[in-house]
Amino acid sequence: MDDTYLPISKLNTVVFCPRRYFIESVLGDEERNIHLIEGDTLHARTRREGENIWVWSDRICGIVDQMIQEAGQTVPVEFKKGWLGEHVSDWVQLGAEVLCLREMGRTQASYGYLYYHTTRRRQRIELDDELTCSIETAVAEMRRIAGADSYPPVTEKPSKCRGCSVREACQPTLWRK
Ligand code: SF4
Repeated sequence: MDDTYLPISKLNTVVFCPRRYFIESVLGDEERNIHLIEGDTLHARTRREGENIWVWSDRICGIVDQMIQEAGQTVPVEFKKGWLGEHVSDWVQLGAEVLCLREMGRTQASYGYLYYHTTRRRQRIELDDELTCSIETAVAEMRRIAGADSYPPVTEKPSKCRGCSVREACQPTLWRK
């Protein structure tokens, strides 16, 4: 069994697009575009100064943007640059943070919040069986891609490619022809 710790933020990447995960994490081609730089700035602002809130389980680890207290329980908040929607990759990332907090014994809460900066709206995400299953699938996918020797296919949703930081290395338009 591979016991390497996987970064929670990359769970988001692999769910968003396995090809992007391969380019960034297996080939090491991690370009910084305007969207990532803006995202980094937002995270730096939202994390309290000098406070990196690490969470981990037996397979994954990462940093939570903020912890809040609700009904006597610690609840993670993950800040995102865009707008509220059906962003499954964000749900998996936040769900993994909730899972870690629970496994660490830091909370009994089974939910967290995504806060979307552009629309200033908050979305409550429950760590239910379906989301737990999605996290497991994403972890397995990361391990599989780490051992792959060829690129995963381009995403079937070309809209994802518009702001993608590894678009140059990926050449999605070429591959779709
Ligand atoms: S450009 Fe599109 S297909 Fe290529 S890695 Fe980015 S999201 Fe995936």
